[in-house]
Amino acid sequence: MNHPDIKEVLYTEEEIKKVTQELGAVLTKEYEGKNPLVIGVLKGAIMFMTDLSRAMDCDLELDFMDVTSYGAAIESSGDVKILKDLDTSVEDRDLLIVEDIIDTGRTLSYLIDIFRYRKAKSIKIVTLLDKKERRAVDLEADYVGINVPNEFVVGYGLDYIEKYRNLPYIGVLKEEIYQ
Ligand code: 5GP
Ligand code: MG
Ligand code: MG
Repeated sequence: MNHPDIKEVLYTEEEIKKVTQELGAVLTKEYEGKNPLVIGVLKGAIMFMTDLSRAMDCDLELDFMDVTSYGAAIESSGDVKILKDLDTSVEDRDLLIVEDIIDTGRTLSYLIDIFRYRKAKSIKIVTLLDKKERRAVDLEADYVGINVPNEFVVGYGLDYIEKYRNLPYIGVLKEEIYQ
């Protein structure tokens, strides 16, 4: 049984798993013989990061960053604030940033600027979901799991007011939940 607040499931647990395994295989090749620092953007990316990193058959390290965007609740403003920084130095490291979803692209654009300034050796982005038509800045992920339509989605890490992160699938909420 799906959660009663969910109107429609867009991607099932099985579909997410398949996509994640495929990305893991590609990234295993990409980082063969390297020791990438895999950076999860909290909190949305946690489910994807734990599954993706287990699908990567290579040496890697995990770290997390938590950022928030000032202003609007549903669209990021680009005025980003760091709530939790990395524990690890990125200097001369191969970075793989893991995101749940790219929307305007402002959050990642900001993070990339920081990591470049901190002299990372290479920076790549992997995102489970990509809402390309919403992009407000010039930013593309290197690896995309699923291109999604312009709808607000929840589940598998993605929240609406901190709820629904633990759903194993990704779906859209019933209209009345937003009221
Ligand atoms: P951006 O800076 O690309 O506009 O925002 C990216 C962040 O906004 C995502 O990492 C995610 O936390 C949040 N976000 C964007 N679109 C959605 C969505 O459809 N559902 C949910 N739950 N969060 C979203
Ligand atoms: Mg995110
Ligand atoms: Mg959120």
